[in-house]
Amino acid sequence: MKKNYIMAPGPTEVPPVVLAAAALPIIHHRTSEYRQVLKEVSENLKYVFQTKNEVIIFPAAGTGAMEAAVVNLVSPGDKVLVASIGNFGDRWADIAKTYGAVVNLLAFEWGSSADPKKIDQELKKDPSIKAVFTTHSETSTGAANDIKAIGAVIKNYPAVLVVDAVSSLGALEFKMDEWSVDAVAVGSQKGLMIPPGLGFLCMSEKARGLAKNSKTPKYYFSYEKALKKATEDKLPDTPYTSSVSLVMQLKEALRIIKAEGIENVWARHIRLAEAVRTAVKAMGLEIFATGIPNNAVTAVKMPGSLDSAELVKLIRQTYGIFLVGGQGKVKGKIFRIGHLGYAADTDVILAIAAVEMALTKMGHHVELGKGVKAAQEYLMAKE
Ligand SMILES: *Cc1c(COP(=O)(O)O)cnc(C)c1O
Repeated sequence: MKKNYIMAPGPTEVPPVVLAAAALPIIHHRTSEYRQVLKEVSENLKYVFQTKNEVIIFPAAGTGAMEAAVVNLVSPGDKVLVASIGNFGDRWADIAKTYGAVVNLLAFEWGSSADPKKIDQELKKDPSIKAVFTTHSETSTGAANDIKAIGAVIKNYPAVLVVDAVSSLGALEFKMDEWSVDAVAVGSQKGLMIPPGLGFLCMSEKARGLAKNSKTPKYYFSYEKALKKATEDKLPDTPYTSSVSLVMQLKEALRIIKAEGIENVWARHIRLAEAVRTAVKAMGLEIFATGIPNNAVTAVKMPGSLDSAELVKLIRQTYGIFLVGGQGKVKGKIFRIGHLGYAADTDVILAIAAVEMALTKMGHHVELGKGVKAAQEYLMAKE
């Protein structure tokens, strides 16, 4: 018998009560019963985003929410700055170019974090830049960005700060309003602990100024239309059919986050990530990120000339644990362990144990139990 676990940096495990919520009969989306659900979800999303702004839900992948941010904020010919530290940072540049923006790509080395001073220099050089796009948790490299420091720079300029928080919301500390973030794009299948299929877009007043005047064509992804429907009545509504079952699941997941308390959620992710990093080092392996470590996902360098795709496949086939390899320029060279969302001590211990066994099978010498012991000791010391 094989038991399956998903420890990818998305999709992530879904708690049983959230899974069960998808099995409920469909409520029609134009009923007050459903709009009451939307009201609760809207209030709890604001809590998780740490914002007073309305959070718009688009049935879409996380990339859909990113595209929604671009089409609502950018007009063809606008200058934008993209501070990229990996694959998902580059995605902002691709989407912005697709819609005719003039993209200044400020690319930092993979594994490092964006330097807020460099962003400041670029904005100083060209104050006509309309928007700065960046990533909070760079899932491809296991590094994170200091969004608070970047926000402190950008708030002094007319430009808006647009953040991909797809794999950080509900995992890493994130305070939209306090950190002067103007637009946030999020997906459902990571820290929010629900299946894939929902995209979230939240905008500040400063961003709304741009949204009202953006000339990029859009229909389904119109933020203004969605915001009007969400706020014009006492109960929220949506312009088109809502993803009823996913929203029912979201309601349950947000209740779990609220009951744990968002600060405790952030602290849990730090603790699990530290346990993984401690175990990895104890095994004699190296963490890929050299910048700010990402508490949602850890990227580990493959030892010697071994292929990470092979390791990941072996772990999946033998132990049923789904880890992921590397993307783009680090394909085959790193493997990544997701420890976000519905994740606990036991998940970390299982994943480390499986990595030790699989590396041994591949002929790489690791002392069995060394990483597991380090994780156990760390977790017990931080109980
Ligand atoms: C997963 C992820 C995305 C893309 O989400 P999709 O739902 O696959 O479109 C974007 N950015 C980051 C940082 C991610 O981790």
